[in-house]
Amino acid sequence: MIKKDVIIIGGGAAGFFAAINIAEQNPKLSVAILERGKEGLQKVKISGGGRCNVTHAEFIPQELVLNYPRGDKELLGPFHQFMTGDTIEWFEKRGVLLKIEEDGRMFPESNSSQTIIDCFLTEAEKFKVEVLYNHALKTVSKKDSLWNLETSQGTFSAEKLVIATGSNPKIWKLLENLGHSIIQPVPSLFTFDIKDERIKDIPGVVALNVEVKVLGTDLWSEGPLLITHVGMSAPAILKLSAFGAIELAKQQYKFEIEINFIRQSLEDCMERLKELKQDLAKKTVFKSTQFELPKRLWHKLVLASKMDKNTRWADLNKQQLENLASQLTQAVFQVDGKSTFKEEFVTAGGVDLKEINFKTFESKRHKNLYLAGEVLNIDAVTGGFNFQNAWTGAFIVAKSICN
Ligand SMILES: Cc1cc2nc3c(=O)[nH]c(=O)nc-3n(C[C@H](O)[C@H](O)[C@H](O)COP(=O)(O)OP(=O)(O)OC[C@H]3O[C@@H](n4cnc5c(N)ncnc54)[C@H](O)[C@@H]3O)c2cc1C
Repeated sequence: MIKKDVIIIGGGAAGFFAAINIAEQNPKLSVAILERGKEGLQKVKISGGGRCNVTHAEFIPQELVLNYPRGDKELLGPFHQFMTGDTIEWFEKRGVLLKIEEDGRMFPESNSSQTIIDCFLTEAEKFKVEVLYNHALKTVSKKDSLWNLETSQGTFSAEKLVIATGSNPKIWKLLENLGHSIIQPVPSLFTFDIKDERIKDIPGVVALNVEVKVLGTDLWSEGPLLITHVGMSAPAILKLSAFGAIELAKQQYKFEIEINFIRQSLEDCMERLKELKQDLAKKTVFKSTQFELPKRLWHKLVLASKMDKNTRWADLNKQQLENLASQLTQAVFQVDGKSTFKEEFVTAGGVDLKEINFKTFESKRHKNLYLAGEVLNIDAVTGGFNFQNAWTGAFIVAKSICN
């Protein structure tokens, strides 16, 4: 049996970040990562399309937490200990500069996730973190004050155990056996499958600022909307998929959404259309795109309003005006399934947050058991927030262990 002071299960984002910080803050502790794969940090590698969206340029904890459908209340305290600014500084001190994109996402200046991986591997080596690959955790038990761990390659023991295994159902089962409750996992961050004449053959079209509601629920969101080959994507949809992860799973991903493409009330839209009927009387509706909508989307919505390409504004009857106003502000679409967003899948669900002390990220069920990252029932919308959760949890674990 190999004995260490601290063993971290999982060589992913949270695992490496915790291990490096522990070993740096207290060089006297022997620290090992047990990783089941033949390499670690695989999600970091493929994250952000290979560029790794490390964090998000949001520096107010109260604002930052709004991006977490699960974990918002619990992360507020932790973000006061370690958040975006600290992440930027942490990497900067190690020679990795991050840059901010227009939408707030932050990436390494190199535009390569390998920079983050190299940084972690160098730091782990520098602070003598032992990383054991091909070591999958099989069982966990506690005897006296020691954790005993059986892996695919031998047994280990440690005084302090950190679980950073992401969304692995087998580990959730082990944690259940240790008395933890697991919130059943469901997918989060997905796009909506929609078959509808109004979006057919116009993939790539973006409406910059829409409002979307899921009918029959309180779920709504706003932001850019992208029409894809199979339906709809972009923040307006992805936010709904994250905040509605549980509700939409219950509905088996079949539900109706209502889209306001122009963010105006039906009444205001009608007023504007009546003005246009006067002002553009001789022009065809089809050719006179309005409300700063993309031309191809305008064409589709016009044709869906029971008029043809040659209908002139002057010829519009009341019903046609109402149809168009309704298509622009209250267009209903049937969603019929979901697809993966750029292969970026995140799981909602995991260890019940009530069972974690968020001052330390220690389990309330077991002393010297710490959990960080996606193993907990925390997840976020896309934009770098999921990694920020991993960095914050892992940093606080390190601080707690070293104190
Ligand atoms: C394609 C893709 C792109 C993404 N892009 C981004 C992005 O740009 N920005 C962002 O913020 N988030 C992104 N995410 C989400 C982000 O990757 C995760 O939230 C984050 O990796 C979670 O970190 P973690 O350490 O908790 O888990 P992981 O990074 O998943 O690490 C868990 C580790 O534990 C190991 N492990 C599991 N079981 C065992 C076991 N039994 N024994 C030993 N080891 C085990 C796994 O092999 C893995 O290495 C992306 C996700 C995907 C899938």
